[in-house]
Amino acid sequence: MNAMNPILDAAERLKALGSCGFREARDPVNQPMINNWTEVMGGPAWDDGVAPPAMIQVWTMRGLHPSASLPEDPLWAMSAVLDEAGYTSVVATNSEQTYHRYVKLGERLTVRSRLSDVVGPKRTALGEGWFVTTESVWYSGDEPVATMMFRILKYRPAPRQVLRPVVTDDNAFFWEGTGSGELRIQKCLQCGRLRHPPGPMCPACGSGSLSYAVAKGEGTVFSYVVHHHPAVPGRELPFIVVLVELTEGVRMVGSFDGGQASIGQPVRVRFQRIDETLTMPVWEAA
Ligand code: ZN
Repeated sequence: MNAMNPILDAAERLKALGSCGFREARDPVNQPMINNWTEVMGGPAWDDGVAPPAMIQVWTMRGLHPSASLPEDPLWAMSAVLDEAGYTSVVATNSEQTYHRYVKLGERLTVRSRLSDVVGPKRTALGEGWFVTTESVWYSGDEPVATMMFRILKYRPAPRQVLRPVVTDDNAFFWEGTGSGELRIQKCLQCGRLRHPPGPMCPACGSGSLSYAVAKGEGTVFSYVVHHHPAVPGRELPFIVVLVELTEGVRMVGSFDGGQASIGQPVRVRFQRIDETLTMPVWEAA
């Protein structure tokens, strides 16, 4: 136990409390809920007097407006401590359920949980966070009928970053070009055909001898979309994505900066430096 760390202190305190009180299911195990669940899950009808085992959590869900008088849940208590410390985001990482027997229609289940482990801080792809593991046991009367290990990551979201292009042997010349202020189009050395996006082989003559031409960076809007959803890291919604027909005759997808786009509108490229290794082409009204 690290007396200097309030998160670990809280974890030790909650672990020491052991299992919380029994929380009773709102309703007994019942056929209408089984029907709803199997319909949502896309499974076959289930009507043989017992519930699908994987439904176990359903029976003790709190509903939309949980009562304040419910026994304290250690996962909620630990989450509150982590929220307070700035680890405000959550993602479920593992869940393992063990079923001891089928539960029957009419059984009124109870559940109790305990905090089994808190590990952190860990650096993850999502941001720095803590893994919180709880164990829940469902009972019918005194008899345990199912057990679940449930682990979440409570994390501090990493600063928003842009989505980075995947740079390959085929398109590296393009991204090197944007970095030096050139819009490069792949060119076949055998037949002279221009193409975009780049590929390993000329689609016209099959040659693998490829180079590039430097485009003027001018064209017209061939088509566009206004992106409202979903959120994109590093971007404010909504934003406009244009398909530009370059004066060289190839089309290229890119961001549009400059209010409303319209089809046929003349545009020109500008280069937006993101960081040392990435410069994005952005289209604006010519
Ligand atoms: Zn060719």
